[in-house]
Amino acid sequence: MSRVLVTGGAGFLGSHLCDRLIRDGHEVLCVDNFYTGSKQNIAHLLGHSQFEMMRHDVTFPLYVEVDRIFNLACPASPVHYQYDPVQTTKTSVHGAINMLGLAKRLNARILQASTSEVYGDPEVHPQQEGYWGRVNPIGIRSCYDEGKRCAETLFFDYYRQHALAIKVVRIFNTYGPRMHPNDGRVVSNFIVQALKGEDITIYGDGQQTRSFCYVDDLIDAMTLMMETDPDFPGPVNIGNPHEHTIRELAEKVIAMVGGKSKLIFQPLPQDDPRQRQPDISLAREKLGWEPKVHIDDGLRETIGYFRHMLSQ
Ligand code: NAD
Ligand code: UDP
Ligand code: UDP
Repeated sequence: MSRVLVTGGAGFLGSHLCDRLIRDGHEVLCVDNFYTGSKQNIAHLLGHSQFEMMRHDVTFPLYVEVDRIFNLACPASPVHYQYDPVQTTKTSVHGAINMLGLAKRLNARILQASTSEVYGDPEVHPQQEGYWGRVNPIGIRSCYDEGKRCAETLFFDYYRQHALAIKVVRIFNTYGPRMHPNDGRVVSNFIVQALKGEDITIYGDGQQTRSFCYVDDLIDAMTLMMETDPDFPGPVNIGNPHEHTIRELAEKVIAMVGGKSKLIFQPLPQDDPRQRQPDISLAREKLGWEPKVHIDDGLRETIGYFRHMLSQ
């Protein structure tokens, strides 16, 4: 049993990670400032003897005692991270420095939730970890993309300079229950629109692609990565290599939810990547992992979650 710190633990991925760690017998300290996360996501854990919640902003130093740190604190959807872009960069960069300083003092393992956005709008397809990316440094997505890139730099400098046991995972689009209903991400938007009988908003022509990973698969990979050999810092891609156009996703959601929603087309946001698909060969090799959940099953679970939420 370890004492595990999860920053961003009240968010979508963080709350599922807390659940998993508790189920595996660990003690969990969840740190979150509730910027995009919610108390609802962790309400069922409050009062659990292995769980502790602390309201704290990771841009400020944190003095606690733990053996493992999963650093997930950061708004993740374009709507949320663009709302206060300076704070987004601070969370990624100052947050990484503080959590790395904490890990260094404790000689604790630390895992960074990085992102496929470090590849930007990629010229290489599918994306392998060796690809350096094509990121606009001054666009509206840059606060997130460059913040996460700088965090990766800091992680690797602590690894080289201080021999810290770091782990970097690059997460590709992930979906599932506890996504924020208003965060503007495509899966939550389409499901909520379909359930309300509203039109489905496709940005651009809908031919851009994404590859969607169900949250349970993602959590499997994150926990496996944390326990890999200390000489394997990553980065490693984790995501589902099945690629779909956004239009296909919209049609699938309408077919599964039923109802009368129509597709409507709206302007494509600036710097929106045209295509994205992870090459997960490294994850297969080093983690012995690949996603198991079919998109139809994952969407069914997610639709059930939002249906319940909207009925309350
Ligand atoms: P989320 O917005 O649901 O969770 C982020 C959590 O971090 C929230 O609970 C939020 O309140 C908290 N937070 C934000 N700023 C903070 C700060 N300064 N101090 C403390 N807490 C803070 O998003 P998510 O989808 O769960 O993403 C979790 C992590 O995974 C993020 O780092 C994100 O960049 C990364 N990621 C997610 C995806 C995805 O598809 N969901 C893809 C790539 C990377
Ligand atoms: N830090 C922290 N908790 C700790 C140790 C450090 O939050 O237990 C923060 C501290 O604010 C510091 C940062 O981590 O600014 C980086 O720490 P490090 O020891 O790497 O660098 P230094 O203290 O020399 O700046
Ligand atoms: N998208 C869309 N309609 C929506 C929300 C998103 O067509 O209501 C598109 C968006 O332009 C992008 C893709 O879906 O091409 C994925 O968007 P999301 O914000 O979920 O993730 P990211 O762009 O960060 O991969």
